[in-house]
Amino acid sequence: MEKKVRVRFAPSPTGGLHLGGVRTVLFNYLFAKHNGGDFILRIEDTDQTRFVEGAEEYIFECLKWCGIEPDESVLHGGPHAPYRQSERKALYKEYADRLVKEGYAYYAFDTAEELDVKRKEIPNFQYSHATRTGLKNSLTLPPDETLKLLDEQTPYVIRIKMPDNEEVSFTDMIRGHVSFNSSLVDDKVLLKADGMPTYHLAVVVDDHLMEITHAFRGEEWLPSAPVHVLLWKYLFGLENMPEWAHLPLILKPDGNGKLSKRDGDRLGFPVFAMNWTDPRSNEFTQGFRERGFLPEAFINMLALLGWNDGTDQEIYSLQEL
Ligand code: GLU
Repeated sequence: MEKKVRVRFAPSPTGGLHLGGVRTVLFNYLFAKHNGGDFILRIEDTDQTRFVEGAEEYIFECLKWCGIEPDESVLHGGPHAPYRQSERKALYKEYADRLVKEGYAYYAFDTAEELDVKRKEIPNFQYSHATRTGLKNSLTLPPDETLKLLDEQTPYVIRIKMPDNEEVSFTDMIRGHVSFNSSLVDDKVLLKADGMPTYHLAVVVDDHLMEITHAFRGEEWLPSAPVHVLLWKYLFGLENMPEWAHLPLILKPDGNGKLSKRDGDRLGFPVFAMNWTDPRSNEFTQGFRERGFLPEAFINMLALLGWNDGTDQEIYSLQEL
């Protein structure tokens, strides 16, 4: 039997939803509905330092305005609840511990100050295969020293042990065969000192547990993909790894970088779906909704950016799309 298509939109509640974010929602949603699948909305709030009050509510309101209804989410419930990663903390730790036990990850005890010294000493310092021998971690310390530090409850993070000089590849739905040399990627933190996972660990564990089959996300995540592929390999033997599509970003009119609020102001349209006032700075950004755009117009603009079905049809309903 064919597996049911399951996709997810996994925003971090760090601010208002930029039109690029809504396009990512739209692609995920349309792909799911076209294939009779499920669309899951998962809140990736493991980075508490970037959490912004009100952002989660904004995301739900924005999807509602666009006419997009998740099948499973914090609000809709579902068999894989909770759908907010900060509420799944204990679960990720088990996977991080397993990675350490099996030799794919390690404890690192370096303090922020010690790492700052390294950054000053070594230009473009990265915690990696090339530098980790000179640092304070369970790969370089004698085993009894590591045990002692753990016993004394010395704060630590868990880092992935990136292999040296290995080709890590996968097939992207948009780019085709993509390959990275593992030596170029640093030993990313998987579990932070406060026991919270980083995005890298949480995204792989949750995509596995939530049985995600396809993941459409912004191209800015492409450099992280080799870490995710390796985690999939180490934890799940690559079995049922989702197919990834890294979507090109919506760029400035001259193609130079990501479309910003200022470009929108200059071109006469907002870059946010709805009004957003950042509670940290009180900076106000106008949205499409409040400017009087109909959600259908907004959706059509996003769907037709760089795509056309070969006919003269200009307006599509969500159903038709
Ligand atoms: N939390 C990530 C973001 O906000 C999700 C990336 C992904 O879809 O894997 O962009």
